[in-house]
Amino acid sequence: MSDQLVQKRRDGHVIRVDSKTSDRMRGIRQKDTKPEIVVRKLLHELGHRYRVRNRDLPGSPDVANRSRRWAVFVHGCYWHRHGCKATTTPKRNRAFWEAKFARNVERDAESAAALRKLGFTVVVVWECETKGDLAALRERLHSELNQA
Ligand SMILES: [Zn+2]
Repeated sequence: MSDQLVQKRRDGHVIRVDSKTSDRMRGIRQKDTKPEIVVRKLLHELGHRYRVRNRDLPGSPDVANRSRRWAVFVHGCYWHRHGCKATTTPKRNRAFWEAKFARNVERDAESAAALRKLGFTVVVVWECETKGDLAALRERLHSELNQA
């Protein structure tokens, strides 16, 4: 069965995307995958206190502690280009997508640099890590944040 194309307007372009890409653009995720919730739960278990959606910090880190000076970003592998198997690129409008993804990656690097300049330890957690070995992720958060 051929996939139906959906017309979308993004960044001043009108593009046609397949349904999977359309869902991604609408931020639809599988029900059992709430990467941020997983990370918050692990941080809580590790005894960390934090605030969520820190809009007043560069890049609005998903979780942060200002006094301890650490910030955690929970990045979707697709939008933020992790490089794992979730990092696919739509075949249509390839140049558009590559430019968009490149901007995301650039923005991420700028946000992290700005935070480090403010003295923050910055940790990036990838969506796929929250679906895999949680003990390993827990250990990584523990060691990286205790150096903060
Ligand atoms: Zn990944």
